[in-house]
Amino acid sequence: MHLPHLLGIEGLDREQITAVLDTAEEMAQVQTRELKKLPALRGRTIVNMFFEDSTRTKMSFDLAAKRLSADTMAFAGKGSSTSKGESLRDTVLTVAAMGIDGFVIRHSASGAAKLAMEWTGLPVINAGDGTHEHPTQALLDAFTMRRALGPLQGRNVAIVGDLRHSRVVRSNLLCLRELGAHVTLVAPPTLMPDAIEDWPASQGMTITNDLDEVLADADALMMLRVQRERMSGAFFPSEADYIAGWGLTRERLAKLPDHAVVCHPGPMNRGLEISPEAADAARSLILDQVAAGVSVRMAVLFHIFSGEGSHA
Ligand code: ASP
Repeated sequence: MHLPHLLGIEGLDREQITAVLDTAEEMAQVQTRELKKLPALRGRTIVNMFFEDSTRTKMSFDLAAKRLSADTMAFAGKGSSTSKGESLRDTVLTVAAMGIDGFVIRHSASGAAKLAMEWTGLPVINAGDGTHEHPTQALLDAFTMRRALGPLQGRNVAIVGDLRHSRVVRSNLLCLRELGAHVTLVAPPTLMPDAIEDWPASQGMTITNDLDEVLADADALMMLRVQRERMSGAFFPSEADYIAGWGLTRERLAKLPDHAVVCHPGPMNRGLEISPEAADAARSLILDQVAAGVSVRMAVLFHIFSGEGSHA
């Protein structure tokens, strides 16, 4: 299967998502070998352009490309000519003129990845655009949960926390819906996106403000970060209030079914949305998610840049 780009989960069907997850399983096998490198993308050059901070996504895209033998270049918004006022359009056109094969882009503006693709005509992978989408995060979340729970069809996944500012929830809703999971969205009223019931992807989902009522039936809890950098005012009275209502405390952790797992895309606010006990619990898959990030991003790069259909 060839993918022309990955701007979002929107537009991908169950077959395509499953194909990426299955390729990621093969990539994960490669990661268990002593020599972890495949020659698939030899001769391709992929540029990582991160205009917003990142640890996991940036490093794992870089590692994934290297493990497929691609050449990589890293661009950071800070320290480049964007701080001299160069526009996003001029910046991507400048880099594209160097003769590269594609971009991985993170930007604070929703839609930035799509624009970069339109301007350059090169394949683009969206590594997070504003509050819109973060497709590889949803794919690695699905990969991690599928490994722990088996097929996600009919499974109950609760996504909890600052949904208003989260691109992860948007991509996950679309991905989990395609895979047949039942999603419950849990957030304080102020951090629930406006008119969420009108989102096409939220049809058939449960929407609630009450975390305690979903614990007993959850197969997976996905705790999302309180995104202070995207908040212009106060969305809850105090940290203590947030923890009391929506934090995954030790007491709430104990109410989950034995088989239930806990995920968090990172970076965590330890002690706020997730307690240290929950973050480090045996049922926490947070570091499995990080490991899956490399395999899943290898799979995405492979489906876009290898073989006949690729741009090169
Ligand atoms: N790392 C994820 C993102 O970039 C989640 C987060 O920042 O909370 O969207």
